[in-house]
Amino acid sequence: MLELLQPQPADKILALMQAFREDPRAGKIDLGVGVYKNAEGVTPVMRAIKAAEKTLWETETTKAYTGLAGDPAFSDAMIDLVLGTSVERARIAAVATPGGTGAIRQGFELIKWVNPEATVWLSAPTWPNHPSILKFLKMPLAEYRYFDDETRGVDFEGMLEDLAQVKAGDVVLLHGCCHNPTGANLTLAQWAEVIAVLQEVGAVPFVDIAYQGFGDGLEEDAAAVRMVASEMPECLIAASCSKNFGIYRERTGVLMAISEKADGQPLAQGSLAFLNRQNYSFPPDHGARLVTMILTDPALRADWEAELEEVRLGMLALREQLASELQRLSGSDRFGFLAQHRGMFSRLGTTPEMVEKLRADHAIYMVGDSRMNIAGLNAQTVPILAQAIVDAGI
Ligand code: PMP
Repeated sequence: MLELLQPQPADKILALMQAFREDPRAGKIDLGVGVYKNAEGVTPVMRAIKAAEKTLWETETTKAYTGLAGDPAFSDAMIDLVLGTSVERARIAAVATPGGTGAIRQGFELIKWVNPEATVWLSAPTWPNHPSILKFLKMPLAEYRYFDDETRGVDFEGMLEDLAQVKAGDVVLLHGCCHNPTGANLTLAQWAEVIAVLQEVGAVPFVDIAYQGFGDGLEEDAAAVRMVASEMPECLIAASCSKNFGIYRERTGVLMAISEKADGQPLAQGSLAFLNRQNYSFPPDHGARLVTMILTDPALRADWEAELEEVRLGMLALREQLASELQRLSGSDRFGFLAQHRGMFSRLGTTPEMVEKLRADHAIYMVGDSRMNIAGLNAQTVPILAQAIVDAGI
């Protein structure tokens, strides 16, 4: 049997990480993998997570199974964080999942289960795991235009035109904030227009929110998903705690399914729990428990929010420094988009050849589509990157 397996292409970002590790050059800069790093290049454990872990170690009395949906207190805390009071609680079904990826996977399986014909529409470009999981599940997928290579902003007209082609019952996957890989995001006024099109065509929105708190703030970053959830009859939401709680390896996420009416919720809740059981029974608990402790304890929550805000403002300062350094060196405003983008990533908008040149000549590593992890920079390396970009003639 095993000889029938086909070798799979290596993950490009993991291969890039490997090449970076093996590069002997001093001063090499890693803008590749999508984890937050502080100015020292470290992905720290957040203070509130450390504090919650200490308390948990002292007070946890059992490691017996939780429920198939995970601890309901985690779902409640995450619904509160992501949706606030935008949707009637009684309409929302939610289960804990292994990370945001687990939530996306479960969401896709739910779609396939109830409507195998449904096409899932993805932004062009999107996080590569979206199409990869859909293809693995043999689900129909399509793309809508999203990124404008000229302006490095959103091709909003193209996006609306493509979304108008969506069939009733199809699913449209949207990044709730901090678009990965481009960093280009819709304004709230544009979200309202997108929602109007989705309503008109009868599409089901599936919002992937993996960077709440990394863009304009915790509340601000949730504004779009709240608008979608409150204005569409039905909606799926995959939320990840990997980035904003810095608990990548704990695999903590949640899938929410919002039914049109509260009487649809028990069916959705039971179906999500059933899906968990088919795939892994009980979702991981450790990270979810820490998140719940933080979100429900005022002091821990205040400290977490303060640290998250430091992270957010640090990335924003790097964006502004990079944009102004490039403006000074190139004598043009063409890199102004870097300060407009939000989240951990920006797509520089150059060719794979240029990306390779930056790696070969300057030991600067970014993903082949020219996605840069802004958190891979610090105040000292920003001028080095800016000089390299200008030298390369980008
Ligand atoms: N969605 C997007 C757009 C992402 O960038 C990520 C993380 N790279 C995720 C979902 C899920 O991350 P995780 O499974 O680590 O929570």
